[in-house]
Amino acid sequence: MSIFITGGAGYIGSHTCVELLEAGYDIVVADNYVNSCPEALERVKKITGRDFKYYECDIRDRSALDKIFKENSIEAVIHFAGLKAVGESCQKPLEYYDNNIGGTLVLLDVMRSNGCKKIVFSSSATVYGSENKVPFVETMKTGTTTNPYGTTKLYIEGILKDMYLADNEWSVVLLRYFNPVGAHKSGLIGENPNGIPNNLMPYITQVSVGKREKLYINGNDYPTKDGTCIRDYIHVVDLAIGHIKAVEHIMKKTGVDIYNLGTGIGYSVLDVVETFKRANNIDIPYEIVGRRAGDIAECYANADKALKELGWKAEKNLEDMCRDAMNWQSKNPNGYGN
Ligand code: NAD
Ligand code: UDP
Repeated sequence: MSIFITGGAGYIGSHTCVELLEAGYDIVVADNYVNSCPEALERVKKITGRDFKYYECDIRDRSALDKIFKENSIEAVIHFAGLKAVGESCQKPLEYYDNNIGGTLVLLDVMRSNGCKKIVFSSSATVYGSENKVPFVETMKTGTTTNPYGTTKLYIEGILKDMYLADNEWSVVLLRYFNPVGAHKSGLIGENPNGIPNNLMPYITQVSVGKREKLYINGNDYPTKDGTCIRDYIHVVDLAIGHIKAVEHIMKKTGVDIYNLGTGIGYSVLDVVETFKRANNIDIPYEIVGRRAGDIAECYANADKALKELGWKAEKNLEDMCRDAMNWQSKNPNGYGN
């Protein structure tokens, strides 16, 4: 029996493939490479010394997906496939709804018709919106997302909940990620953004290898300790291990369970810059510029539920994240294209 990973060539997916293979699971991967490449999966094989099947497949392609289910014995799905750029989602809402929601609907239908009713879904802290107070707890009201990307996560959570209400044989875990950063310690896989990075850590690492001149910090007038925004950065390997725990969980029980995957600690943008400099003994020039539209001042998790029910806790600290991010970037200055 295998775990089917959609979007497995992506940043979080590839790290999760490594942890699953190392934990002894068999896996099958599907990705359309809209934001990744098969080289990431070859590197997963290199790290783990294990082989697995992967398919170039868009999850909206019902017959291709059905064929994968027919060719393999799939017990559960981890569903990463999706578009994730907040800004782009405001320009292309239809594409985001079509890909993320449309893709999920096809996947769920194919799963159901093949008798597979166990799924772990990549949700996001963005579903907590701008009105809740930190730290975010799973029981808080959601529904105030500020961009189409966030709304796709919220709707998909709702679809999965409705599906369980209609058929309580389903077993669903919704994982709300905070800010995944860092890379596998081998430096063979990591985050590989297209073009100018939107997110803080890949921008910093590109400055560190001279691809960008300096970091532009979006605002230092927030009501935080140093005026810059606070986020809960989590090492991608810790996050990947969280998925193993979630898979163990869906094997044991039906229902819909929601877990925050974060460290529970908030760091400011300046904390990240200073830690990166210290961990890698390198300077990161920066300039303070205006706020980025849609940013909230603070976002960090209460991660107690994942510890209590899944036995999962993030182990790596911000220095580990900065060191591993730099290791990946310096070994692969052009990502997988070098
Ligand atoms: P990523 O872009 O690196 O990975 C997503 C993968 O899905 C890519 O390999 C892409 O090619 C693939 N994909 C997209 N649409 C597809 C489709 N229709 N069919 C098949 N494959 C498709 O992103 P990531 O950072 O690894 O994120 C994985 C998941 O976690 C996404 O759903 C994302 O929204 C969610 N998430 C990410 C973050 C983050 O900060 N990275 C935070 C919260 C949630
Ligand atoms: N940020 C920044 N400069 C950049 C990228 C990000 O100052 O080039 C800030 C951003 O405004 C936010 C924090 O870093 O305050 C984290 O941003 P990221 O996009 O990584 O995560 P998100 O805000 O989506 O949680």
